[in-house]
Amino acid sequence: MLDFQTRISGLCILMLGACSHDRGPAAACGPGVLGTSRVQVVSLETDYVPDLLAENEVVLTFDDGPHPNRTKRVLDLLDDQCVQATFFLVGREAKDFPGLVREIRSRGHTLGGHSWDHPHLSKLPVAGAVSNIEAGMEAIEAATGEDVLMFRFPFIDTSPELSDAVREAGYLDVTATADGADWLDEPPEASVGRILNKLDAGGRRGIILLHDPFGAVRRQVF
Ligand SMILES: [Zn+2]
Repeated sequence: MLDFQTRISGLCILMLGACSHDRGPAAACGPGVLGTSRVQVVSLETDYVPDLLAENEVVLTFDDGPHPNRTKRVLDLLDDQCVQATFFLVGREAKDFPGLVREIRSRGHTLGGHSWDHPHLSKLPVAGAVSNIEAGMEAIEAATGEDVLMFRFPFIDTSPELSDAVREAGYLDVTATADGADWLDEPPEASVGRILNKLDAGGRRGIILLHDPFGAVRRQVF
């Protein structure tokens, strides 16, 4: 059985505005790539995840996958830059594409849950919402054989009562502070500008939200 109190996971941290290839885990990646500067360990004891970041530190996250046509493309682009990210997966998609779930993990990225089928969870009874979340987590865990600690609410839509219930169920809520809104039909530069503005407003640090299944990624801009 899971021991929720000791279960931990890792968030991979990137640096803003500087190439980090000479630091930490990215040292083996060679020059000229973004690299990943450090791994932040989190657990159920972690309070507000964005507070763990120092100035110029960002976490890159992708929601709503895996997608049969697009996720591998994102993984290849991340490999090119020696960057590790966190993927918050929809359970229904994870069940349909377990091989992709394993590939994301085997390529060094961290997995989190994003519900079973992406509803507005705050509109459901709390017990039903938690069941939906647990079903999503179980689909990911079935694919990898590993526990999943981190969870992100679809639409970042929660309530104090629901957030408390999620933590009691053994999951750590990881919000996003710099949403690229890449689901909008806009040029990718618009997402980049939106992200940079939000990072600046948040003290040049934050958790970036993008979507591997969506169009802006297809156009190769993060
Ligand atoms: Zn989502």
